[in-house]
Amino acid sequence: MRVRWAAATHPGRRRTSNEDSFCARPDLGLFVVADGMGGHVAGEIASHLAVETIESVIVTGGCCPPDDRGCSLAERRLQDAFERAGQAIVDQTRRQPRLRGMATTASGLLVTADGSAVAHVGDSRVYLWRDRLLQQLTRDHSWVAEQVTLGLLTADEARQHPWRNVVTRALSASDPPQVELSPLRLQHGDRLLLSSDGLHGVIADDRIAVTIADVGDLEQACQQLIDDANGAGGPDNITTLILHIDAP
Ligand code: CA
Repeated sequence: MRVRWAAATHPGRRRTSNEDSFCARPDLGLFVVADGMGGHVAGEIASHLAVETIESVIVTGGCCPPDDRGCSLAERRLQDAFERAGQAIVDQTRRQPRLRGMATTASGLLVTADGSAVAHVGDSRVYLWRDRLLQQLTRDHSWVAEQVTLGLLTADEARQHPWRNVVTRALSASDPPQVELSPLRLQHGDRLLLSSDGLHGVIADDRIAVTIADVGDLEQACQQLIDDANGAGGPDNITTLILHIDAP
């Protein structure tokens, strides 16, 4: 399986710092987007620390938690990496109390020949483009997503809501990480998008789908999505990571 990818990140038009982080390691099949919270410096540290820890655990192979839920190997490797990222944030907060309250979302994809998996905590998303349809693979861990599920808000209302940034799960020092995992079987021609809410919190899915559908050059597509989010005001940091799967 060959993976082509491109990524772009931008602070947006209203913030001076960028608290998003991402990693792309096609040699490991690992792709991660994280969106830090907790104020300028702390948010940057949280998202960087999470991404670096997830990467280093996957590099070293980590240890796979016992499979008591019928999870695949790829899911268990991501679970271990995400849980250690949560622990790294706990440890760093203990060492530097001024960082108390820092937290980050993380959404990751592990692509292997034996099967792939998605893991996430928070409201950064993974989308799959297949058969000309864009499907959100992750369920936002956020207050507005819960209201949408209950039928109390529409997706458009959620994007405008004053509480749209309230996440119900994150990697932080205050709660043990509750990582949501799902297996994924990729096909030739699949495209995946990992994004922070500076993109999907501003641009509707059907508009994102048009860019993903028309993608020729992956870097141009990432830049187009950043331009679209900034064109809509760019209220938040924006990160986009697009993959294209070429399977034999
Ligand atoms: Ca954000």
